[in-house]
Amino acid sequence: MPARSRLLAPPFALLLGLALCAALAAADPPEPASRLLLVPDRVFDGAAESARSGWAVLVEGERIAAVGPRAELAGRAAGVTVVELPGTTLLPGLIEGHAHVLLHPYDETSWNDQVLREPEALRVARATVHLRRTLEAGFTTVRDLGTEGAGAADAGLRDAVAAGIVPGPRLLVANRALVATGSYGPKGFAPAFAVPQGAEEADGPDLARAVRGQIGQGADWVKVYADYRWGARGEARPTYSLEELRTVVATAASAGRPVAAHAATAAAILRAVEAGVETIEHGDEATPEALDAMAREGVWLCPTLAASEAMARYRGWNGQAPEPERLAAKRAAFRAALAAAVPICAGSDAGVFAHGDNVRELELMAAWGMSAPAVLRAATSGNARMLHLEGEIGTIAPGLVADLVAVAGDPTADLAALRAVRLVLQAGRIVVDRR
Ligand SMILES: [Zn+2]
Repeated sequence: MPARSRLLAPPFALLLGLALCAALAAADPPEPASRLLLVPDRVFDGAAESARSGWAVLVEGERIAAVGPRAELAGRAAGVTVVELPGTTLLPGLIEGHAHVLLHPYDETSWNDQVLREPEALRVARATVHLRRTLEAGFTTVRDLGTEGAGAADAGLRDAVAAGIVPGPRLLVANRALVATGSYGPKGFAPAFAVPQGAEEADGPDLARAVRGQIGQGADWVKVYADYRWGARGEARPTYSLEELRTVVATAASAGRPVAAHAATAAAILRAVEAGVETIEHGDEATPEALDAMAREGVWLCPTLAASEAMARYRGWNGQAPEPERLAAKRAAFRAALAAAVPICAGSDAGVFAHGDNVRELELMAAWGMSAPAVLRAATSGNARMLHLEGEIGTIAPGLVADLVAVAGDPTADLAALRAVRLVLQAGRIVVDRR
């Protein structure tokens, strides 16, 4: 049976290769793990109320071995490489909770044209640049919430980063995302044309197949559009029924995937929360009732303030008073979410605006009512918890992955310091060095 023997050939070759590698490895003693002692002016661990002056961090191999006063770590520092970082604050690598690495700013190219006119290879090539810029800005993990017409390219990018083929943050991806038939875009074409959509249309019981298909193509998260601007006057209206959202959540949960829901309206937020989603994206029209439901169920809000601000500017606002009505409403919804003690994700919707400018979201969170340390906790330990990665990243503590960033100045006093990245470590390796 020739077909069968052809199928067997690659695994045999692989096994032989592995055996040779094992033999070669046995001949040499294992490489000792690299040991770095990072010595900034202060350390913000991602969870505390404030930064600690005079602290240092010991990194062994890929992980953090110790954090504490420099004098205490000096005893363990025999044979380490000391990395002096004068004038800086060391903090956990920042985590972006909502981005689209396959999109670029809408004032360069409209979303419609990106979806309909840009070949996937062009979009992927551009995304590799976005990934590098995001890493250079101190973001070592990104949750990407939909390829917007670029198929399953996000999983390939994730794997390319993990394999060291292109530089970039660790990615968690959501494939194409799910939309109710007729609700999404691009739209406005003659019905004779079947126009490709920016997400996968699926409804009713077929949602189970669609969720499984996306997971099969590599989705770490499942994203569903619980509402969209398809109202009779172009306003946001709910799309999926409660039952449909329950199908999505139950199917995803069976495979251990959490669900993120795009939702602006209170009705969609309430349905999505009741169905069991873990994060609400945008939340522009959240009412006290919707926010209370989120707080009660521990559902995160990714407010995407920076995308709203960018869109206002694309529509002609110059950043001065008077603030556009939509932006004022967004600010009010964000403040109400803070007052209701909804867990806040740091998620910007980068892609609507430039990748690498992700700090824009953190600056707006501070400008609109959060303290700088609270913003930093949201972008580190908070987002790590949201991603179910709190035992791996988001805090500077022994045993966690050494994803770290050093910035000039003290971001716990002024977030503008985040714009001055001096060093980025990824799993204990220096990947950005601007000392
Ligand atoms: Zn988005």
